[in-house]
Amino acid sequence: MAAGEGALPVAAILAALFAVGLLFQVWLSARQIRYLGRQTEGRVRARGTVHVMIAAVAMSLDVALAIWLTLGGGIAWLAGFWRDRPAAAGGMVASVVFAGAVLDAARRSGRTYLLDVRFDGARPPLGKILAHAMAPVPPKVALAAIAGEAFAAMIAITPSRWWLWAALLWMVGLVATAWLAPDPSHQGGMTASQRLADPLLVARLAPTLARFGLSGDEIRVAIGPPGMQRANANLSGAGRFRRVTLSDTLIALLTPAEVEAVLAHEVGHWRCHHVGRDLAYRALLASGGFAALALAMRHPALFSRIVGERPSPATWLAMAAALSPLTAMLTTPLWAHWRRGMEYEADDFAARHADPRTLISALETLDAVNATASAADPLYARFYNAHPSRADRVQRLARVFSR
Ligand SMILES: [Zn+2]
Repeated sequence: MAAGEGALPVAAILAALFAVGLLFQVWLSARQIRYLGRQTEGRVRARGTVHVMIAAVAMSLDVALAIWLTLGGGIAWLAGFWRDRPAAAGGMVASVVFAGAVLDAARRSGRTYLLDVRFDGARPPLGKILAHAMAPVPPKVALAAIAGEAFAAMIAITPSRWWLWAALLWMVGLVATAWLAPDPSHQGGMTASQRLADPLLVARLAPTLARFGLSGDEIRVAIGPPGMQRANANLSGAGRFRRVTLSDTLIALLTPAEVEAVLAHEVGHWRCHHVGRDLAYRALLASGGFAALALAMRHPALFSRIVGERPSPATWLAMAAALSPLTAMLTTPLWAHWRRGMEYEADDFAARHADPRTLISALETLDAVNATASAADPLYARFYNAHPSRADRVQRLARVFSR
């Protein structure tokens, strides 16, 4: 009997997984586009449709890259290139991450052109669009090279427990990024942020800030590119680097009482430890990924049947990086579910510390200016949306003030 005969057709199973995952997501996107066509009109429908299509195209390109790398011989080719070179593991992982990061940069510039410029009124200079799109590439590639080398060293030192150390290192990286990195939307100079300067608003918010134990320095105002209509708020960083960022458009649009309600929602994220819990969830998912990789590495035949190459730690790590779109498909619904739960918790906090009706009117204004539909296709939303729809949030907030 020939070697491998009767064994699982691993390559065919992987190809089928990619195909089923992709078809399922295209089907979900089509559902959402149909929903927008039925329930919305004008800018909301057009913007929402383009948004879904950009995501679907980006996802298809990610899957095509993953198929080329794994089944199409990309990793075997990279292994040949990096063989006998120093830092082969770091080089291979960085090469795979570089290819994914370039696709992501294309998606980001597409988003800026097709959404921010066409629908949201932004007029950023071309240099800023490109800088914004390319900004994440060098740090991603550098971190991938360091992580690849570190993981390969761990595999060499402790082949049975390396994945625990890798998960620990991943967590340290996640915490350091959350601690130090400002809001990622600031990358590439599309958005600048400054201190809250409006003396009237500062005076109005002072009691609220004092009540929540925030100093005025922890509130930042994000200045978007010229013409930008979109408005939003978020909480980022941790500890000393924690900040609530409000866009200048949000401050201009909302009444001071509404700004206060939005601020209470963001403080709710902080008080309910959402930055830390989000990190813990992501660390948990990553640990599961490392454990699965360690398990797979005990079966080298799996690898050769997919890639047609004898595996080394470097090629295993590169394959894991290449398969990340598939794992993202599997984990997105879980992560989105966690995030929606956090939004409800932050709304509950805001409803206890500000007038829920003011938060509702703020959400209405924000959805109108952002051209966001008040609801979405239920299956699509369950799978992708990290924020509950306004209809769901309003329903929950309405229960609070009717009590
Ligand atoms: Zn929120």
